[in-house]
Amino acid sequence: MNAGRPEAQGAAPESEASEPAPWRAFDLFAPSDEHALLAESLRAFVDGEVEPQAAQHDREERFNLALFRQAGGLGLLGVTLPERYGGAGMDAVAAVQVLEALSFADPGFGLAVLAHSYLFAHNLWINGNEEQCDRLLPKVASGEHVAGMCMTEPGAGTDVLSMQTRARRDGEGWRLDGVKTYITNGGIDGETLGDVFIVYAATGERSLSAFLVEKGMEGFRLGQKWEDKLGMRASLTAELVFDGVWVPDRNLMGEAGQGTRHMMRNLEIERLTLAAQGLGIAQRSLRVMVDYASERKSFGRPLRDFGQIQRYIAETFAEYRAARAYVYDTARRLSFTKAGQRVDADATKLFAAQMAKRAADAAMQVLGGAGYMGENVVERLWRDAKLLEIGGGTLEAHHKNITKDLSREPSLIG
Ligand SMILES: Cc1cc2nc3c(=O)[nH]c(=O)nc-3n(C[C@H](O)[C@H](O)[C@H](O)COP(=O)(O)OP(=O)(O)OC[C@H]3O[C@@H](n4cnc5c(N)ncnc54)[C@H](O)[C@@H]3O)c2cc1C
Repeated sequence: MNAGRPEAQGAAPESEASEPAPWRAFDLFAPSDEHALLAESLRAFVDGEVEPQAAQHDREERFNLALFRQAGGLGLLGVTLPERYGGAGMDAVAAVQVLEALSFADPGFGLAVLAHSYLFAHNLWINGNEEQCDRLLPKVASGEHVAGMCMTEPGAGTDVLSMQTRARRDGEGWRLDGVKTYITNGGIDGETLGDVFIVYAATGERSLSAFLVEKGMEGFRLGQKWEDKLGMRASLTAELVFDGVWVPDRNLMGEAGQGTRHMMRNLEIERLTLAAQGLGIAQRSLRVMVDYASERKSFGRPLRDFGQIQRYIAETFAEYRAARAYVYDTARRLSFTKAGQRVDADATKLFAAQMAKRAADAAMQVLGGAGYMGENVVERLWRDAKLLEIGGGTLEAHHKNITKDLSREPSLIG
C-alpha cells in the first residue's frame, strides 16, 4: 500500500505537473527555436531531395553537384559560418543535426558536405584572416565552389608530422611540392578538380603550415580518382598533385609554422560531425529493422516475436540513444575557439563509429538475405559505416589521444 505517498498514485505536486522547471523543458537535440526550424527544413530536404537520388549515386560512384548546390541554397553548407559569409551563424549542435539528417538517407553525400563545410570552410573561418574569408567563403557557403582539406599522403596518414609535402619560400610566396591522397572532394568528377583546398605542408623540421590552394594555380592538378571504394561512394576521393605550385603569401593561412595548431583547433568539429554521421546510419538501420521485423513472418509469426531478433533491435536502440545523447551533449558544450576539448570529440567518434557499424550489421542480420542485396538501403549503410572507423582519425588514433588526455588530466574522467 502506498497510501502515504501521493506521487506513487500519479498525483504529482501541482507545480511540477503544470509548469516544468526550464531545465526539464530543455531539448538536447533541438535546444532553440532555430534548431527546431533547422530540423524541420532538414527533414523536408532529406525526404524530398536526398533520399530519392542516394542509391543511384552510390551505385554509379557519382557526386551530385546539383544537390550540393541546392544544399548551399538552403544554407546547409555553412551553418556554423557567420552570416556575413553566407552562413547561418549557428553552433556545433546545428552542424551535428545536419550530418545526422543527411546520413540517415545518404552518408556518402553527407561526407562530401562534411569535408566541404568543416574540413575546409569552418577551418578557414577559425584559422584564416578576414581577407581570405571575405574572398573565399561566400562562394563556398553557396556551393558555387567545392572545397576540401589535404592532410593525408601516400606515405603519411596517422603519423601526420612525417608528411613529405614541402613548401619553401619563393619571392612573396611559397613553392609547394608533394602529393596528397584520399582527398574528399578532390575531384568533382573523374576529370574536374575541386575548386579550393586547405593544404598542409612542411615548412621546417616537424613544422607544418596551411596553404589555400585554388584551382587554376600552375602545377596543381588532379591525380587519380580512387575508383571502386567500399562505401561513401557518392563522395569522390582523389589524389591531388602539387608540382612546384606557387602560392602567394595572401594564401598562407595564419602564420608559417601554425599548421599543427590549426589542425588541432579544427579536430573537434571534424570528429563530432563524423560521429553525427554514425547517428544517422544507426537511426536508419533501426527504422529499417523495426519495420521489417513486423512485416516479415517466419514459422507463422512476425520476426519481432523472436527473442534473438528483439535483442538486435533493443541493443541497437539503447546504443543509438546513448551515442546520440553523448554527441549532442558534447556539441552543446563545444566552443569553436577554446582549446582542450579533444577528449570528448575523440570519444564520441570512437563510440558512434563502432555503434553505427554494429547497427548496420544488426539490421542486415534481421533482414537476412534481403539485407545483403544492393536494392536494400542496409547494404549501403553497412558499407558506408566502416569509413567512420578510418577517416578523420582511426580508432587506434582515438585510443591513443584519449589515453594521453586522461593520463595528463585525470579530472576529465569526471
Ligand atoms: C573515403 C576516405 C575519405 C578521406 N578523406 C580525406 C580528406 O578529405 N582529407 C585527408 O587529408 N584525408 C582523408 N582521408 C584519409 C584518412 O584520414 C586516413 O586514411 C586516416 O587518417 C588513416 O591514415 P592511413 O590511411 O595513412 O593509415 P595509417 O596511418 O597508415 O594506418 C594504418 C593502420 O595502422 C594503425 N596505426 C598507425 N599508427 C599507429 C600507432 N602509432 N599505434 C597503433 N596503430 C597505428 C592505424 O590506426 C591503422 O589501423 C580519407 C580516407 C578515406 C578512406
